[in-house]
Order: sequence, then C-alpha cells, then structure tokens
Amino acid sequence: EAKARGKGCHAVFTNDMREAVRYRMQLENALREAIGTDQMFLAYQPILSLEDRRLECVEVLLRWRHPELGSISPAQFIPIAEETRLILPLSDIVLRQACLQFLHWREHMPELAPRYISVNLSRVQLTDPQLAKRMMAILDEMGMPPECLQLEVTESQIMQQRSMASELLAEFKRHGVRLAMDDFGAGYSSLSCLQEYPFDTLKVDRTLTDNISRGRGFSALLHAVVSLAENLGLEIVAEGIERVDQLVLLQALGYTYGQGFLLGRPLTADALEEWARTGAGSGNTSGNGTNTRE
Ligand code: C2E
Ligand code: MG
Ligand code: MG
Ligand code: MG
Repeated sequence: EAKARGKGCHAVFTNDMREAVRYRMQLENALREAIGTDQMFLAYQPILSLEDRRLECVEVLLRWRHPELGSISPAQFIPIAEETRLILPLSDIVLRQACLQFLHWREHMPELAPRYISVNLSRVQLTDPQLAKRMMAILDEMGMPPECLQLEVTESQIMQQRSMASELLAEFKRHGVRLAMDDFGAGYSSLSCLQEYPFDTLKVDRTLTDNISRGRGFSALLHAVVSLAENLGLEIVAEGIERVDQLVLLQALGYTYGQGFLLGRPLTADALEEWARTGAGSGNTSGNGTNTRE
C-alpha cells in the first residue's frame, strides 16, 4: 500500500516525506523478520495495591530491540503490526510467553508472584470472530487458569467494533477471563460503555492522573470516576503515577491500585523477579513512595 502510494505520488513528495515512507517500509520488513526472534521480548510493569504495596498484577508490554535500528517503541511498531495484520501471530506469541512466565513465577515465588497478568488486545484482534476460541485454546495448552489472565481493551477499540467486541468480550467473560477498560478518560469516555460490557477493572488514563494537582476541578473528576467504579463493582487502577504528590492525592480520593514509574517501571522478567524479591513488591515498604527501580 505504502509502495503504491510512494510511486504514484512521487512528484509531490518532499524529501522528508520520502524518507518517512522509506523508514516505514524498512520497519515493516524488519518487523516481519523480528517476530519469533529474541529481538522481541516482554516487559512487565507492576500494578500494586496502594494500601500495602502488594504486587497485584503485572501488565505485559511488548518490546522490540533491533540490532541496527535500536529500540523501537510500541507506539511505532504496533500500528505497523496492525496494518499488516502481523499483530495476529505476534499476539499469540505474546500470550504464550506471558502465560509461561506467569506460571513460572507462581511455581518459583508463590508468595511474591502477581495474582494475575494483564495483556493488551489490539483493535485488529477484535475483528477476528475466532479470537476467544483461539486464545482459550492457548490457555488450555499452557495450563493457564483463565481467571489469572486479564485482557485490556480501550473504548475506542470497542467503538470501532461494537457488535463483534461485545460478543467476544462476553465469550471471554463466560470462560472466566478478566476484562479491563484501558486508558479510561483519554478519549470518548462514554460512560455507557462501562455498564454495557462485562468489565472487572477500570484503568484510569495517565492524562487524568497527571492533572490531579492542577486544582479542585480535576480532583473532583477523579473522585467521580472512583465513585462510578465503586458503584459498578469495578476495581480501579490509576495509571501513570510518576510523583509522590499524585500518589498521596489518589490514595486520599480512594484509589486502591496504581501503576506508574514511581511504583515500578516496566521490567524484564528477571528484573521483576529481583524487584519482587528485594522487597519492593512484598508489602514491607508500605508508606515509602520512592521505591522506583529501573
Ligand atoms: P498501554 O496499554 O496504555 O500501556 C501503558 C503504557 O504507559 C506503556 O507504554 C508504559 O510503559 C507507559 N507507562 C507506564 N507508567 C508510566 C508513567 O508513569 N509515565 C509515563 N509517561 N508512561 C508510563 P509502552 O510500553 O510504550 O506501550 C504503549 C502502548 O502500546 C500500550 O499502551 C499499548 O496500547 C501498546 N502495547 C504495548 N504492548 C502491547 C502488546 O503486547 N499488544 C498490543 N496489542 N499492544 C501493546
Ligand atoms: Mg494497557
Ligand atoms: Mg493504559
Ligand atoms: Mg494505550
């Protein structure tokens, strides 16, 4: 597609545009080759109980380090993986690897292991009517209890695929998989979405978290969101906690779980294990808001 466009519009392309198209094609080719190799690996970001700093969950975040191009962020390569539908095989690999890692932690550090893992879904996956069947087969094959998996979807993903999304989410729910609404407050924020789909968790976007110290209006908003979650019986996670003042205010507003650089960066599996073993996730650092680890 990019190729055809590149040829047809050659004359009106500036050098910058030409360079951007070239880079985009280079990334696409590199991505095809990277899938299934150790260029791609998973990072795990802690989601903690704010009250006692217990490791509740880890969010699974895909990483790509190319030998020549260096680290490429998901914001860059996920859209390419989606356009090319490479996201489908890639997501299967992510799910398998994440389950394997979770089961390893549960066996080797049962007290410190997260209670469940949270994996992001792509909008393209939500167009696949066989998605739930395929993913449940993978869980089965891995011996992964469905209630130890949470899937994250955003409002905009659901809005693009309303009827399919609704069927798929219901099917996951029937199998006992947890569901989270990701990045709540970043986009449309249609409140009906929360009630209409069987979510377990509400993840509040970091743009809301970030606004917290900007005055009463913003904390009123964050407070309203907590009440809403409570009334709907949803667990609530504040995303993107970077500063102690945010943490303190969020706790005062009734937020029970948090995720962000202050609490823990996305870490490789080994680094997360080390982080958990050295106390950050064990509950004995309660009250200390400065235990960020690289
Ligand atoms: P997301 O699902 O909203 O993931 C959270 C993003 O926020 C991650 O970025 C994480 O590193 C970042 N983050 C966490 N805490 C903080 C903080 O305190 N401050 C700031 N500034 N950022 C924070 P990342 O890893 O770059 O991922 C970006 C997005 O890419 C994710 O957003 C998700 O939508 C997508 N993504 C990542 N991995 C996967 C995957 O395996 N599959 C799919 N479909 N999408 C993925
Ligand atoms: Mg997410
Ligand atoms: Mg998010
Ligand atoms: Mg996001």
